[in-house]
Amino acid sequence: MPRKIAAGNWKMNGMQSTLSELQRLEDKHGDADIAILICPPFTLISACEDTPFDIGGQDCHAAEAGAHTGDISAEMLADVGASYVLVGHSERRTDHGETDALIAAKSKAAYDAGLIAVICIGETLDEREAGTTLDVIDAQLAGSVPDTADALTTVIAYEPVWAIGTGKVPTTDQIAEVHAHIRARLQDRFDDGSEFSLLYGGSVKGSNAADIFGVPHVNGALVGGASLTTADFSPIIAALEAA
Ligand code: PEP
Repeated sequence: MPRKIAAGNWKMNGMQSTLSELQRLEDKHGDADIAILICPPFTLISACEDTPFDIGGQDCHAAEAGAHTGDISAEMLADVGASYVLVGHSERRTDHGETDALIAAKSKAAYDAGLIAVICIGETLDEREAGTTLDVIDAQLAGSVPDTADALTTVIAYEPVWAIGTGKVPTTDQIAEVHAHIRARLQDRFDDGSEFSLLYGGSVKGSNAADIFGVPHVNGALVGGASLTTADFSPIIAALEAA
């Protein structure tokens, strides 16, 4: 069975004072039987060391080390206690012009450092309206998921770009169509394609989480805004535990 994962992407939010929020989350979900992954900004990763949660970076460089001012390697993330890293988030693809080939290289760097890569894919609104969503998904899966991926080292997050931070959420039928398609593609390509965890991301909230987690092949969520406070994240975690 794919692992159930409730993942929080704090993006460029969070100060040392924010860490008290993690204590509140631990009080409520410290012994959860699903994986809870927190991806804080780089500056807070080492301070998260003592939480019972999995910790991830929000990006890594494809190289192990060297002259890359301002960047962080996968090995550095592992060194400060991370066990996951997000790669290919749409904000990286858009703000930093990241390509599928670069995302595949970052994923390989993650594997080399012993990290699990959460590879993010998803269509824009124009692509959805043009009816090309599944073609976009195919191209991103083919280009950004390395041939060496497996279910232990790789999680796929389907995040329609138009649903991220907008409050707009696809219908459950739309999520079902894409997740079933991703599952089929992974099964075609990998012996353990049935075992990869597939996360949905894009405006997940306590009010829609149960419906989303009821969709076949949705094994969890990648949550942005609603992961910043325990009050908002906790109902999502509870819905995933109950699913
Ligand atoms: C995200 O950043 O991956 C995300 C899904 O954001 P939000 O939940 O705020 O839409």
